Amino acid sequence: MQMRKLPQGDEQISVIGLGLGIAKPGVDDVSGLVAGALERGINYFDLCCAYEGSYALLEAPFAEVPRSSFFTQLHLGATYKNGDYAFSRKLEKIRDTFMRELEITGIGYTDFGMLHCIDEEKDLDYVLTKGIYQLAQDLKTQGIIRHLGFSTHNPAIARKLLELGGFDLFMFSLNAAFDFQQDGELALGETSEREELYRLAEAKKVAISVMKPFAGGQLLKAQSSPIGVALSVVQCLKYVLDRPAVVTAIAGAAKVEELDDYLKLFTASEEELDYGAVMAHATQAPNLKRCVYCNHCAPCPKKLNVGLINKYYDLALMGDNLAREHYLNLEHHASECNDCGHCVKRCPFKCDQIARMHEIAAYFGR
Ligand code: SF4
Ligand code: SF4
Repeated sequence: MQMRKLPQGDEQISVIGLGLGIAKPGVDDVSGLVAGALERGINYFDLCCAYEGSYALLEAPFAEVPRSSFFTQLHLGATYKNGDYAFSRKLEKIRDTFMRELEITGIGYTDFGMLHCIDEEKDLDYVLTKGIYQLAQDLKTQGIIRHLGFSTHNPAIARKLLELGGFDLFMFSLNAAFDFQQDGELALGETSEREELYRLAEAKKVAISVMKPFAGGQLLKAQSSPIGVALSVVQCLKYVLDRPAVVTAIAGAAKVEELDDYLKLFTASEEELDYGAVMAHATQAPNLKRCVYCNHCAPCPKKLNVGLINKYYDLALMGDNLAREHYLNLEHHASECNDCGHCVKRCPFKCDQIARMHEIAAYFGR
């Protein structure tokens, strides 16, 4: 398993997390699934369960390992009606559900306390002013929540909360289809707005945990893919993990075997992981002309890491002071580009890297 450090904390988080929004108690072995995830080195769990009955089944596998060896996201606003997931903004109900979940699972505290699913301005205003945000802060003061977080599908809302400050992580719906589809049924926000959000999060040292890495499975089949081409499971995961600020891709599973499919990410060849090659044939991807750091253009004859150079430059422009240092520490710099054009021909997103390398070299002075 690969780990990524929480930017504002010491937690080392597994790049693959487990979401419990699919497994159904009585049908699937929820306890076995969580135990299987822990055995495989998955230490990050989103506890927004689809069914209330799942919570009681989490206690046994979590009790088998030290509490400090795994991390949880628990949501303030995910409640239940007749055992099924139901969204609520009723303060008492939110508090009672949250505390009950902590007790039933035996976890004692949650690593991340999430303001749940804020997608609209009016709702954001409600959450911030009608006691829910205050409840989260109080729970943090009491040590019941270790880090404040939120979940949203809307980049404009995420940006507002990042500007508000105080959050260490947010859960965001992110995948190649959502990023390249303009404001629509599946995704909110324009492509550039989403890209800027990821960069802003990285600059502010706020981590992203990703929901919907496979677009609910639609991205895995050409017939259903919103961009007209199918990515494999490992390409979806690689795409997500290549975005700035992302620490973990939370993948849903009902069976342990599905986890093994996710773990192929670590043994797949570069060709198998090359989502850029597939996306070059996407029917609905806009002509971005902007680097997404996929490195599909490699190898550069001058050994430039084109994706990383672009990433550090974008971060520096966003005000990340460390980005300049990271750039200068690279073995090869933009000034070494010999204008050969190999990367320009290979780039699925039509980036003019020759012009870009000159711009970057002038900016960093190397
Ligand atoms: S220039 Fe194009 S192919 Fe190369 S890393 Fe950027 S987006 Fe990917
Ligand atoms: S144009 Fe520059 S960055 Fe691109 S492959 Fe050639 S030398 Fe490398």
